[in-house]
Amino acid sequence: MTRKGSSVAALRRQLEAERLRLQAEVGRLSIESGQQIGYGNHMADDASDAFEQAKSLALRRHLENLLAEVNEALHRLDDGTYGVCQVCGSAIGAERLEALPYASLCLRCKAHAEAR
Ligand SMILES: [Zn+2]
Repeated sequence: MTRKGSSVAALRRQLEAERLRLQAEVGRLSIESGQQIGYGNHMADDASDAFEQAKSLALRRHLENLLAEVNEALHRLDDGTYGVCQVCGSAIGAERLEALPYASLCLRCKAHAEAR
């Protein structure tokens, strides 16, 4: 980690770009679901409408989770704990961070969390 200074700046730019992209996506979904709600009171009766709503709600939750992870990664960049597993405290690993810049867990802890 000899060129840490420049890589942190690059990471920050990458994370901020990702945050903007996610915020735009969430905003777009909010507008779409807002329009759907504007139409009548029969939406609960319409199975495909309900399905579409559940789908866009799930997508929105997913995006909001990602957004929170990106924000947390930016915080970790600020306080110097970026790249450290939030569970076991070991290094997450450059390869994993390259694939997922906002990863908060090492592969082992991630696998463990998903197995629950
Ligand atoms: Zn770990």
